[in-house]
Amino acid sequence: MPTFDPIAAVRVRTVRIPARATHSHGSGDVSAVNTIILEVTTEGGVTGWGEASPWAVFTGTVEANVGALEMMRPLLVGANPLEVERLLALFGRTVVHCSEAKAALETALLDIVGRKSGLSVAELVGGRCRDSIPLSFSVANPDFDADLETVAALHADGVRLFKMKTGFAGHRFDLMRLERLRRDYDDLDLRVDYNQGLAAYDAIRQLRDIETFRPTFIEQPLPKHNLEGMARIAHALDTPLLADESVFDPREALVAVQMELADLFSLKIMKSGGIRRALEVAAIARAAGIGVYGGCMFETGIAHAAGTHLMAAIPDLELGCEFYMSTYYLKEDILSEPFPVRNGHVHVPTGPGLGVEVDRAALDRFTVATSG
Ligand SMILES: [Mg+2]
Repeated sequence: MPTFDPIAAVRVRTVRIPARATHSHGSGDVSAVNTIILEVTTEGGVTGWGEASPWAVFTGTVEANVGALEMMRPLLVGANPLEVERLLALFGRTVVHCSEAKAALETALLDIVGRKSGLSVAELVGGRCRDSIPLSFSVANPDFDADLETVAALHADGVRLFKMKTGFAGHRFDLMRLERLRRDYDDLDLRVDYNQGLAAYDAIRQLRDIETFRPTFIEQPLPKHNLEGMARIAHALDTPLLADESVFDPREALVAVQMELADLFSLKIMKSGGIRRALEVAAIARAAGIGVYGGCMFETGIAHAAGTHLMAAIPDLELGCEFYMSTYYLKEDILSEPFPVRNGHVHVPTGPGLGVEVDRAALDRFTVATSG
């Protein structure tokens, strides 16, 4: 049994990395990744990395999550990093919401435990069920000609899952893009994500048009809290409906099951507050016959690695994952080796902990504020 030195330091960095292109969504545009990198170091000098990736219109703000981590710092210094669940419970009693900060803390603790024990995070949370996961890229550039070039490049890289972001520039634009992709390619697994962008009164009629393009699923057409509207759509359509913004944590997953508002859930550590809570969402989904998908926010390779270990540990992940930011969206990542995407698949890191290393010079370059 390895000895676990107490936590000595908790450094919180605000990081801003430009993106290669603007991505538009039903809930707004994104042209840079604004994220928080957490560095937890033990007295013995072992460092665990974590990331909180807020999006103000979806999960929360950078400022709130930085504040939450700073509130936790005096409670973490001197604590045993092996006590992951106790420290998460303490976080829950200390700060409400800020699920991204909670994910960051869990990731950093598991990274330390993994580095000390020689086990990967996937092994710490149940063991790996797979070594690779099919990668989905989001077609979200308001300049569709630029997106067509990106799709062609990714198709050449072996990517076959594409999720079109819809509901930000009108129904005709969405239909035109789907028609074009179906015409140009006969081997795409196409999905559609509204990011809450449709008005409830006209959603079903528009989605019936979308269904003619045979998407694998339609994601979150209505605002998060319109649960009754989501249920009406799920019952009206033949295409599976995926809940993203409507299902953050186990409690919301339970409500979603009771209300029959979706056929599928998107799992994200930034919504659930980490891997362990996301596994609970997956367990509720499994019990209810609901499928799960590997989602992410606007992240660097650190959060991608944590998400990849989660998805590796889920026995019935069938719809792939979307950890494409590091490879195809950020101008530059902060990992010392490229995030492992090859032939249209994310390959699950095998090294101890997260199995990725941080390029400190790159991290310093993109850091805009530091505390601790
Ligand atoms: Mg989504």
